[in-house]
Order: sequence, then C-alpha cells, then structure tokens
Amino acid sequence: MTYLSTVGNDVKSRGRVIVAGAGMVGLCSALSLRRAGFEVGVRELAPGIRETGAALGVWQHTITELERLGLGSRLSEIRAEPSFQGFRDPSGALIDVSDMPPGRTVLRQRLSALLVSAVGEENIRTGMGVVNYAEDESGIAVHYANGDYERADLLVGADGLNSRVRTKLIPGSESHYYEDGHHVWRAVLPFDGDLGDGYLTIGRERTRGAVTRLADGSCFWVLAQLGLTGEVAGDPKQEALARVANLYDGDSEFLLRKVIMATPQDSVIYSQVAVVPEIPRWKDGRVVLAGDAAHAMSPHIGSGASLGIEDAHVLGDRLMHNDISSALDSYEADRIARYKLVREHAKAMALAETPADYMERFSRFVNWLNDTAA
Ligand SMILES: Cc1cc2nc3c(=O)[nH]c(=O)nc-3n(C[C@H](O)[C@H](O)[C@H](O)COP(=O)(O)OP(=O)(O)OC[C@H]3O[C@@H](n4cnc5c(N)ncnc54)[C@H](O)[C@@H]3O)c2cc1C
Repeated sequence: MTYLSTVGNDVKSRGRVIVAGAGMVGLCSALSLRRAGFEVGVRELAPGIRETGAALGVWQHTITELERLGLGSRLSEIRAEPSFQGFRDPSGALIDVSDMPPGRTVLRQRLSALLVSAVGEENIRTGMGVVNYAEDESGIAVHYANGDYERADLLVGADGLNSRVRTKLIPGSESHYYEDGHHVWRAVLPFDGDLGDGYLTIGRERTRGAVTRLADGSCFWVLAQLGLTGEVAGDPKQEALARVANLYDGDSEFLLRKVIMATPQDSVIYSQVAVVPEIPRWKDGRVVLAGDAAHAMSPHIGSGASLGIEDAHVLGDRLMHNDISSALDSYEADRIARYKLVREHAKAMALAETPADYMERFSRFVNWLNDTAA
C-alpha cells in the first residue's frame, strides 16, 4: 500500500479535499471548493476523462450556476446552441406554452473539456477508483483500487449513479431501474439535410422525441419512452424506429424518422434509465455526496447535471463561510429540502396524461428551477 502525500494545488489552504469522480459535478465541486480556499484533488476511476452520452440540454439555471463557479468569461467555449424552438403534439400542432423558458444544447465533451482546463489537469488523477475510506481523529484516509491511499480533511463523493462512496455511507442505497420504466435512444451524426427550427414532440404512449443541430454542425436526436418496464432487447435503431411512429399522424416524411433512418446502426446509443433511491442523509463526518451520486433521477426533467452543478456551488458556498462540520450540516439540510421539491415536479411531469399537460408541468418546473438557482 503506497501513501500518496499530496493532492495538488499550490495555494494557501484551509484543508485538503479529495473529490471522487471527474464527471461534471466532480469537476465543478473541485472549482467550488477551491474558491472556498481548499486544496483539491480529483480522483477518477476511468483511465481517462470521457463524458459519455452526446448532447446536454442546459437552461439559464445551468449558465447561472457555471457563472457562479467563476466560468462566466469562458462560457463562449461551450457554444451553447438554442435547442427547441417549440413543442408539438403528434398532429404537428404547436403546443401553446408561451412561458416555457428557452433551452440550449451543448456537447458534453466540450463542457467537460472546459471544466478540466479550469480545474487543471495536474489536479486530476485518472485510473484511481475509490474503493474505501476510513475516518480517524485527524482526518480521512481514502483508499484506491490499486492499493494506494491518501489523506485529506474531506471526501466528496461525486462518483455518479453507482457511487462507491454512497453505498458505504448508506448501505442498501444501490441504484435501480426507474420504477415506471424509462428508455432512451439517441445519436449524433453528420446530416446535411434541413433540420428546420428544432421541435420537441410530445407523442402518444408517453413517447417524446427531438432533433437539433449542434454547434459543430452535427445532428443530435433523442427519443424517449416512459412507462415501459423491463429491458428493450431488440436492435436499438429498429426499436427507436418502432417508437417514432408515436410522434406523428401518418406523415412518413416526419423529420425525426428520416434522421433515425439515416443513422448508422452502431451509432445509436440505448439506455434504460437507472436512478438512485431517495437517501435520508447526504453526509457523515468528513464525507459528503454531490450530483448523481446523491440524486440520479429520471432524465425526463432534463436537468440532472444542472442540479448537480448547483450542488457543487452550494457545497463550496457553505464551506466558504463555515467549518467543515457546520457546512456539511447546512448543505445537507438545504439539499434534502431542494430535492423534495424536485421530486414532486418530476413525478407530476411523469404522470401528465396529455402533451399539453406535460408541457405545462415541464414549463412550471423549468421556471421554478431558473427562479430558484442557489
Ligand atoms: C439519457 C440521459 C439524458 C440526460 N439529459 C440531461 C440533460 O439534458 N440535461 C441535464 O442537466 N442532465 C441530463 N441528464 C443527467 C446528467 O447526465 C447527469 O445528472 C450528470 O451527468 C451527472 O454528473 P455526475 O458528475 O454527478 O456523474 P457522472 O457523470 O456519472 O460522473 C461520475 C464520475 O465518477 C467516476 N467514478 C465512478 N466510480 C468511481 C470511483 N469509485 N472512484 C472514482 N471515480 C469514480 C465515473 O467514471 C465518472 O467519471 C441526462 C441523463 C441521462 C441518463
């Protein structure tokens, strides 16, 4: 077992923090805690940093939170493109949701690259999966799969859906498939044809779909199906095509169908959505959770990353003004109250029976999110 003697950052420090996970939330946590005066090292299980998935929908809330982390002057680097101009039902009619805030789309890799550059590659170590931790009177020892360990004053578990930190903190909190069943197919591809203005269609059988152009000129489409329990084992492209029929009435030129048809078979990514059960606490001693590790939810709310970035900001804010113990108490109380409301919005959206009803609830949620950015 090798003891690693430093977590990096040449700054006058209020203490040392190890962040488990170099996803968006881990990287944002590193920035936020550094602003609070801590020396921070990010430790990532994977051999390199690679955002999975394709595009990410962001709201004004996301932009506000990134600005609060000090990234305001660099936000042009992520080239957030306007996403959906409107919302349609299967007849093609526009759903009247005049107060729906505008959304934007970014390439996940581009946002991740910005965050890595802001944190500094020298402060991130890959191939370092956290497997255990142990607290003692003077701090916490964090143990890695390769047998190494290092000491710190605080461990932030931002290690995602299947967080090792969470399952040690709260035994029995393993992730599970979303109870109501949620399946997502998506792809990014070169596509020269006209993509129109970009509409999200809320279809029959709780199916939704959209296609939009990304900042690098490529085309991104997504098709989501709620309310179907069990795995969908068929070929992903064929399964997506089978469901796209829920989005239009009789028009075989429907744009999303055309784009799916043009997608190479092996470019279609399919996933069945898994979630983290609601947890009774977010911290214990010198360990605290953030992002999907604490609250991975069904992505029909389109804001898991946004909320995780908010976690990072709130955690840093509380640590800036308090000692570790009081800061974590305050952070936990704030987050539990916040996510109680997020879950209520998410449930209301999932239960909406008509496209118009869904959009009204979606709009209410996004307005609430934007208005209550931490
Ligand atoms: C289909 C889909 C669509 C979505 N769309 C949107 C959207 O449009 N807008 C939005 O805001 N959100 C969206 N989300 C949610 C969003 O993707 C997540 O909330 C967000 O990526 C979570 O970031 P994270 O950093 O918490 O976790 P992750 O991105 O999962 O990062 C966790 C990191 O920890 C690492 N790790 C794991 N275990 C360990 C360990 N033991 N030690 C060290 N490192 C470890 C992992 O390798 C990973 O790099 C969507 C989710 C899905 C599934």
